[in-house]
Amino acid sequence: MILIFCRSCFVFVLSSACFGADGAGWKAGTARANITPTEPMWLAGYGSRTNVSDGKVMDLWIKALALEDAKGHRAVILTSDLLGIPQSIYQHSCAELRKKFKLKPDQIILSASHSHCTPVVDGALNDVYPLNDEQRKVIKNYAIKLEGQIVETVGQALADLAPARLAGGQGTADFAVNRRENPEKEVPKLRAQGALKGPTDHSVPVLAVYLPDGKLKAVLFGYACHNTVMSYNKWSGDYAGFAQLALEKNHPETTAMFFMGCGGDQNPLPRNRQEFAENYGKKLAAGVESALALSPKNLSPELKTSLEMVTLPLGPLPSEAELEKLTANKAPGTHRWAERMLSEQKAGKTFIRDYPFPVQAWKFGGEQLLVTLGGEPVVDYALKFKKEFGAQTWVAGYCNDVMNYIPTRRVLDEDKPGSMKPGWGYEGSRATTVYGLPALRWGDEVEDLITASAKRVVEKAQ
Ligand SMILES: [Zn+2]
Repeated sequence: MILIFCRSCFVFVLSSACFGADGAGWKAGTARANITPTEPMWLAGYGSRTNVSDGKVMDLWIKALALEDAKGHRAVILTSDLLGIPQSIYQHSCAELRKKFKLKPDQIILSASHSHCTPVVDGALNDVYPLNDEQRKVIKNYAIKLEGQIVETVGQALADLAPARLAGGQGTADFAVNRRENPEKEVPKLRAQGALKGPTDHSVPVLAVYLPDGKLKAVLFGYACHNTVMSYNKWSGDYAGFAQLALEKNHPETTAMFFMGCGGDQNPLPRNRQEFAENYGKKLAAGVESALALSPKNLSPELKTSLEMVTLPLGPLPSEAELEKLTANKAPGTHRWAERMLSEQKAGKTFIRDYPFPVQAWKFGGEQLLVTLGGEPVVDYALKFKKEFGAQTWVAGYCNDVMNYIPTRRVLDEDKPGSMKPGWGYEGSRATTVYGLPALRWGDEVEDLITASAKRVVEKAQ
């Protein structure tokens, strides 16, 4: 920022040509709320669990970063230690945030870390868990409380808005493995041989928020990999939780916030030992620190936001014969899903045949792009969008509604019954039933529809 003394009128004039070239001119605010359940609850993500939570490794959080550009345009990203934000919570939260703070949905990102050591949230994957009525009630009450906490935390972040400088950078971390292409047991050997296969995205996007005195106020970072190192019944943010703890230990006054990339087909491997979760957290934090150390690029104080709900078709409604067959399926949740579908079909229910899917773009300073998708997108989407929209593109998945995996056409084709390799079939097919949707897969055109939608929102955010 440069101040010019104007002789003719004896006032100080702000030089607009230079305004924000140093990344200043922004306002930023942060807030957080502890969302660790206060009573035992069912944990999300795995259908194989047989009991409720039995303690915690760390607290679970929602954290909000509010931003305001030089023209007063505001936006808020909220990150969470949750499996996903279901459609109902997204819609209720957006309605309240509009009413209370005049925020429109394009100005809001509700993201989830996809940790599988977090509570079941009402309205998502409910066929998967063997719940009784008492547990359902606890889950419902938790969701109601969570909606209130989301709105309150965003309000606190907006109230905290104060002058700031923004900068964007990128690090790397290499623990994500393409889970479709590398059998889990073989990963240590394949890694040692440098023979891991399949697409990955090892980038660590970093948005740094500095106070005028140079202190790091917040750091928002992402990674494209399932938060599934651990499957115990203890509350934990998994590797992303350990990464945030490490960063906040290193920078005591900083709010560290994690968002998931397109990690639908990526796993942290090897896994199932807490030391792995801690180690991957350290690796991810090191990726963030290296981006910070390399002086991230200042972003001028201009924020454009755009969002659309693109209609994605579901595949055909399963026939009664297909459902009858699936009632005998041993996979957790599948028989419950098939039984529910059959009874609803017999009762004459009209099933949805498509789904409104959120696609969003934020552009910082006319150059740094953040594209967000709902659901669990496979890594192809991040790689494709970086090619399509340029190197300064970050891609987040698991935003604004997690309703299913989001395969590309390649993954859908690979997961067609009859032509599958061992280990395939989940992301492109079976997950649809796990998520409780009335179909055995998406329609074939979802990748084309999502790509066209992304182009439109990116264009609108220019
Ligand atoms: Zn997942």
